[in-house]
Amino acid sequence: MTPLEDVQRLVLAACTPLEAVEVAAADAVGCTLAVEVVAGEAVPPWPNTAMDGIAVRAADTPGRLRVVGYLPAGVDPAGVSVGPGEAVRIMTGAPMPAGADAVVPVEDLAPFPAGGAGLADADGPGDLPVAGAPGRAELATAGAAAGPEEVQALIGVEPGQHVRPAGGDAAIGTVVLAAGAEVTPAVVGVLASLGQATCTVVRRARVGVLSTGDELVEGGGPLRAGQIRESNRPALLASVTAAGFTAVDLGIVRDEEAAIRSAIEGAAAACDAVLTTGGVSMGDADYVKVVLDQLSGGSFRWFQVAIRPAKPFAFGTVGGTPVFGLPGNPVSCLVSFEMFARPGIRRRMGFDPERLWRPLVGAVAPGGLPRRPDGKLHLVRVGVERDGSALHVRERGSQASNALTAMATADALALVPDGDGIPPGGSVSCWLLG
Ligand code: AMP
Ligand code: MG
Repeated sequence: MTPLEDVQRLVLAACTPLEAVEVAAADAVGCTLAVEVVAGEAVPPWPNTAMDGIAVRAADTPGRLRVVGYLPAGVDPAGVSVGPGEAVRIMTGAPMPAGADAVVPVEDLAPFPAGGAGLADADGPGDLPVAGAPGRAELATAGAAAGPEEVQALIGVEPGQHVRPAGGDAAIGTVVLAAGAEVTPAVVGVLASLGQATCTVVRRARVGVLSTGDELVEGGGPLRAGQIRESNRPALLASVTAAGFTAVDLGIVRDEEAAIRSAIEGAAAACDAVLTTGGVSMGDADYVKVVLDQLSGGSFRWFQVAIRPAKPFAFGTVGGTPVFGLPGNPVSCLVSFEMFARPGIRRRMGFDPERLWRPLVGAVAPGGLPRRPDGKLHLVRVGVERDGSALHVRERGSQASNALTAMATADALALVPDGDGIPPGGSVSCWLLG
């Protein structure tokens, strides 16, 4: 048997990154940036207030100030300025007016008793009218109509306080996102904030999925004796999509050497990775490993991996395309996808070596995870519960390699090393499944 890490290393070495393409930012989620992102403009573009309140000269605070204007977000501040002893009412996101260098938040203001429009009704600190007060148009002209309002800044503020400086999020010319970073929803937001509609990413991998087996039946019709319903290909297609790859359904192929050869040849030519299921054990009709050996030249390897489940695994490249010969047992098939195919295809999509894997977390097994020594690492399907700041794991149902329902309710794969297992209350490392 070959240790898991040795097989993974060999697989990853054959999974070379795909080429870079420019795509719309919204279509890039789940890809990695092939080129760093440099800010072509400042974000924010001009200094603005982080709080609702009044824009002031910090040196005038605390103290009584005359309100000489109103700046909601989206309004051009040209012509609005703050002189000594003055304040401009300002709403979050509005540009700072000339002369002001700080903001006193609305919570730290007291309306002045004999004030102008809106202020006289307020009944204490924090009640400077925002909602339910005069509308924008009225406020903007309130000073002129009712004479200047007065307001009391209850606290002193420092220059720059509650002000977001221009370029504070992204200064012009700086690298805001490094090459290799994953495009997440937040990255899409950053690109939009910079006015960049596209980005250059490593191409999203097209992953072909085919299953093999004369016993397999698709859909919900009646089963004849000897037939079973095909579950691996739907589960793998879903796994491929969930991983952020593009799934290509290549159907069921009969257990015939010629049919399997032409299917794998065609798939390798059309896709960036191919997943097959079934036909890699030691049975008479296990043609996938025979055909893969023929097609992949010297790169073909057939492993008995020292893990349970998912021991048999065939791998090779056909015309440079990695072909993953996953086992037919449904749990083994999905666990092999997790151990070999998902990290390998992520590598093709440009993820850094340390970003290929599912999150690995430490957990406690209150009931233990017993096992017998057999020379293999056991990947135990467990449920995960949070207990305060600790994670507790418990075995989920049958651990047989065909018990798909136990896999379906598992949150993680617990890594139980060879030996007698994890004693009750012992610690165990787990790969969290998504
Ligand atoms: P094999 O590796 O082809 O010998 O298959 C091992 C076991 O997995 C057998 O019991 C198969 O019937 C079952 N199996 C193989 N392929 C599938 C599939 N696509 N869906 C569900 N079960 C499968
Ligand atoms: Mg088979």
